[in-house]
Amino acid sequence: MTKETSAVNRKKLPLAGQIFIALVLAIIAGLLLQDHADFADSYIKPFGTIFLNLVKFIVGPIVLFSIMAGVISLSDIRKVGSIGGITIVYYLVTTAVATTLGLLMANLFKGSFPVLSTQDLTYELQQAQSGPLDVIVNIFPSNFLAPIIDANMLQVIVMALFIGFAIILIGDKAKGAVSTINTWNDIFMKVMDMILRLSPIGVFCLLSPVIAANGAAVIGSLAKVLLVAYICYFIHAIVTYSISVKALGGMSPVRFFKGMAPAMLFAFSSASSVGTLPMNIECTEKLGASKEVASFVLPLGATINMDGTAIYQGVCAVFIASCYGIDLSLSQIITIVLTATLASIGTAGVPGAGMVMLAMVLESVGLPVDGIALVAGVDRIFDMGRTTLNITGDASCAIIVSNLLKKTEARRAVKN
Ligand code: ASP
Repeated sequence: MTKETSAVNRKKLPLAGQIFIALVLAIIAGLLLQDHADFADSYIKPFGTIFLNLVKFIVGPIVLFSIMAGVISLSDIRKVGSIGGITIVYYLVTTAVATTLGLLMANLFKGSFPVLSTQDLTYELQQAQSGPLDVIVNIFPSNFLAPIIDANMLQVIVMALFIGFAIILIGDKAKGAVSTINTWNDIFMKVMDMILRLSPIGVFCLLSPVIAANGAAVIGSLAKVLLVAYICYFIHAIVTYSISVKALGGMSPVRFFKGMAPAMLFAFSSASSVGTLPMNIECTEKLGASKEVASFVLPLGATINMDGTAIYQGVCAVFIASCYGIDLSLSQIITIVLTATLASIGTAGVPGAGMVMLAMVLESVGLPVDGIALVAGVDRIFDMGRTTLNITGDASCAIIVSNLLKKTEARRAVKN
């Protein structure tokens, strides 16, 4: 083993282990602090917030510079197009599978769901009413700085693609810009590395207040609904991703999940796909995903690919319908598959966003939006699992696209 690789191994194993220990300690501390949730909220959570702020601060520059550097290094606009095409098809198909799984399982187990009272329920829609094409309109920035300031990843991606393509088209004249972009990419990656070293502390401070606030009593009546959602998250990860990573990515699922453990634990604690992005980039690259692919596929996934959210929306729609005594018809179920897939695409990668988008799913089949109040109390618990699944799906795509790209390049090399 060379000196360099042993250093990497020494660094890698402890971080995953540290995060795991932090997670266990956070659960213990959270349970002990159940009667002092205010203390946890006032004195522990702020440190988690500081950590999450640092992660959010670095995510915009990371996405901007890594996508630009990635596009430039691909040096072929068509190649970027084909990566984008495969990525979007994979994201759509896996999300549709996830929604169908959520709906199937929820229908199977709905007999054991509790029937909660729906009287006097109110849930205020937090979303401004928007036109059908607004999702597309909002992808395109109207300002150079706002996308970074608002951490609007889709707009940052569009900006980075435009600039990257322009650099390719200009050719030799852009040599200076290429080296500047690569240098800044390295600098931001280093900053990210420094921030990620703090993740065990971040995980502890983010998770223990959540456990303290959402103790066993709150989970109580919704335990079965949560259980069904978690079973679906689990099945989707173990079956869908294992098959796709093995068949299309050429990687053993065990290796994949082992390598992804730090990012999954982080997603579980932070409930934010965008916040987990830096860690996800690091894990997938260590697993062998190419830099260009990871830096394009993962930010895109953190914004539009939400399999866990789609499952959650399917399960909750069935649960809410059953509380209102409504039996969903086949056409309503098909409508839910479509809207939950779309709603998960429109969900931002931040805590709680999936619950806001649940309104769209309920409305599409005429269910009362107020029903969201039934699940709102434990949303964070749903969220931790769905975010973990969300980022794992993104990572599986990075592995697969990298592998397919490598194969195509190898085939081309043989031909030439
Ligand atoms: N918290 C989720 C995520 O960041 C989104 C959601 O609320 O479903 O992926």
